[in-house]
Amino acid sequence: MEDKKKVLVLFCGGTIVMEEKQNGSLAVPESLDSAISILKNVEPRLDSIADYDIEFIANIDSTNITPSDWDKILYQIKENYQNYDGFVITHGTDTMAYTASALSLAIKGLGKPVVLTGSQIPGEKIESDARRNLVNAFRVAIMDISGVFIVFDERIILGSRASKASESKLDAFQSINCEDAGEISIEIKIKDWVKTRAQEPHKIEIRPGFESNIFVYTLSPGCAPQDLEFLLNNQEIKGIVIRAYGTGNIPYGFETFFRKARERNLPVIVTSQCLHGKTLMHLYEVGRKALQSGAIEGHEESLETLCVKLMWGLRHFPDQIESLI
Ligand code: ASP
Repeated sequence: MEDKKKVLVLFCGGTIVMEEKQNGSLAVPESLDSAISILKNVEPRLDSIADYDIEFIANIDSTNITPSDWDKILYQIKENYQNYDGFVITHGTDTMAYTASALSLAIKGLGKPVVLTGSQIPGEKIESDARRNLVNAFRVAIMDISGVFIVFDERIILGSRASKASESKLDAFQSINCEDAGEISIEIKIKDWVKTRAQEPHKIEIRPGFESNIFVYTLSPGCAPQDLEFLLNNQEIKGIVIRAYGTGNIPYGFETFFRKARERNLPVIVTSQCLHGKTLMHLYEVGRKALQSGAIEGHEESLETLCVKLMWGLRHFPDQIESLI
């Protein structure tokens, strides 16, 4: 008989363990023990899928997550890598796609599944989606695949491609400019381009550390380059993402801003405001001018991935941001 698989759960709070306060708002329980017991009660038979242990990262609404929590997750995965077949990260949905992007970038040589999941409805509620998501995350975490994934509702999405697309639908995440990595129906179907589990033994390397001081700006009609002038004068700001129109179009007049940002060594990445938008900045003159003046094209990556790439790149490869995107 095959040995039972082992999964390490990295606990990060989120709605899956939240309770309703007296005023009706949702928050994580103050006591970590209560939070963990809510998680375990979501499905007490999880150990029929895999033996599992739980490690604490943070008991928070994921709105409050910071890059230092990403570092903690990375260290836990590194430290426990040889002892488990896969990792499940229970996490709030609001910033799950950012965490998934961060892990996708900062782990090299990953040969096992790292699966993020959570729920839209608190796990204690009878109508919650927590049970299904958690059970499916465990099932995916022991499969013969490797990579960082978000498992949510019927979808398995590559961690570097996910975006939260609905605040209330149980099918909360979408894969941006890439098909889903798999589908959960009666069976779990994985696309054949997904990487398989690496042969044992193998090693991973992690590269923690993310620069928090980036600024994300969304264009709206009437905005002017002077609106961004303060960014050039603020030495604390280390990088900028501009959510431009359509294929990466920016009104005339921003050229000097891009040039000055280049001179200051301040990377400015341009992405599209369209959820599934890829930039094609050569297509229109309004995009081409920005590109010629020093903007960095975001191509097909999600906002979450671009922000995290910028944050990670600034810390580790500050002079090569452009080639990282
Ligand atoms: N605000 C919650 C969080 O991100 C939302 C959720 O978990 O679904 O922690």
